[in-house]
Amino acid sequence: MIQIDNTHIDYGKMRSVWNGAIDRYPSAIFWPESPQDVVSIIRRAQDRQLQIAIRGSGHNVNGFAVCNRGIVIDLARMNNVTFRPKSGLVVLGAGVTNGQLADVICPRGFVVPFASHRSVSYCGFALGGGLSLLSGLLGLACDNILSARVVTSSGNIIDTDSWSHPELFWALKGGGGNFGIVTSIKLKAQEARQVLAGSISTTTTGLTDFLTGYRAMTENCEDSITIFANIRHSGADGFEVSYNICSTDTSAVPIQLAMGIDALGSSEPASLQRVNYTDVLGWTAGLDPAGRHYEYSSRGIMNLDDQIVGLIEQTAQRMCLREQSISIYHQHGAVTRVAAGDTAYAGRKTPYLVRLQTCGGDDRNTKWLASSMGRFDASEGWLTSVNLLGSDGHAAVSKVYDVNYSKLRMVKSKFDLDNLFNSNFNIKPYS
Ligand SMILES: Cc1cc2nc3c(=O)[nH]c(=O)nc-3n(C[C@H](O)[C@H](O)[C@H](O)COP(=O)(O)OP(=O)(O)OC[C@H]3O[C@@H](n4cnc5c(N)ncnc54)[C@H](O)[C@@H]3O)c2cc1C
Repeated sequence: MIQIDNTHIDYGKMRSVWNGAIDRYPSAIFWPESPQDVVSIIRRAQDRQLQIAIRGSGHNVNGFAVCNRGIVIDLARMNNVTFRPKSGLVVLGAGVTNGQLADVICPRGFVVPFASHRSVSYCGFALGGGLSLLSGLLGLACDNILSARVVTSSGNIIDTDSWSHPELFWALKGGGGNFGIVTSIKLKAQEARQVLAGSISTTTTGLTDFLTGYRAMTENCEDSITIFANIRHSGADGFEVSYNICSTDTSAVPIQLAMGIDALGSSEPASLQRVNYTDVLGWTAGLDPAGRHYEYSSRGIMNLDDQIVGLIEQTAQRMCLREQSISIYHQHGAVTRVAAGDTAYAGRKTPYLVRLQTCGGDDRNTKWLASSMGRFDASEGWLTSVNLLGSDGHAAVSKVYDVNYSKLRMVKSKFDLDNLFNSNFNIKPYS
């Protein structure tokens, strides 16, 4: 097992995370290669009363993967993938990224719900829920986990599934890193040699047609099609807007595409292509590069009625920098057929999530985000994904987990009574 401290030449690089605004100094960074390595690091941290931060790929916007003075457990070297195409079963180590997983299963004609970017660790993404352009058909990433191997705060290595420690298994599906260190997961991949995917984009000065068009496209959308919408300040008076579309039914160009072109009034040819999903992941390479100063947060919304459309438009009109953006994610189909209490991820009731993101560390970014986000605080506002939640989420953990919160506290008390795993949206154990 490799370990470094602050005297190592690569310490500066290794302590950095995706969000360049996070600047923390752990006393040591460890790269375990087995669950047994993880047990020995946990024991060492407990003996010295050091905080622990778990790192999948360091993409959490709040920098949960790194702490000051404590120990970082970087799972990057646990990066084995075993895939059995006959059964579609795949077992992956906690350090495997979406890109590494896609490279193994997609060329053989299989998919799972993937994150938008190759570099995000699959496990970290799935433990927070894991919303994908494939979610209408396949559900959230956490819905596809069949079993997990977990190292608990007491140093036990537990294999959990629906029959073995079912309450822990339930809690892992959306409860993030609260209950232990997941060293590997087993998933069921689904066959899809190709998808029909791409985006339709244009620039516009008015957003009503774009947003009501998105509403029309997504209402009654078939499971096989998932569409996300994006609004970016164009730098001039207008906005760059786009619909990102993915359909697992490649036999015909979906009606939603035609509706989207109409809604945009775009003269641009729509660039939907029949591709392997590795290509879809390739399209985001270079977007949102690591090391810049990011802030984002999100809220759930029940419907895109005219009032919400107006609110999103006002929020967009108040953008002043190119790096400010609004994304709207659609949760439908298989995501919403799982009841809110069936996994820890409670935010399934809200068909849409709206996320505001800024990049660049300018004060105007922070002001825009802070003054805008709260306007979406309707009663369902906190029913969102912890993956897409910024630091404002710390004060609202019980609302985010909603009907599941008290059960999550019980599971936390059983598996992490001393709250060793607290660099996360923390679920407090019962004392
Ligand atoms: C560019 C980018 C694209 C994204 N795209 C999507 C998307 O399409 N859909 C979506 O839902 N989210 C998306 N996200 C959000 C992302 O899924 C979350 O930020 C997630 O936490 C990142 O996982 P990570 O392993 O990199 O987290 P890290 O920052 O490494 O870790 C954060 C925390 O996650 C927990 N954790 C991670 N791995 C483990 C483990 N093995 N065991 C126990 N706890 C663990 C720990 O609490 C840890 O402290 C994206 C984020 C970025 C930056």
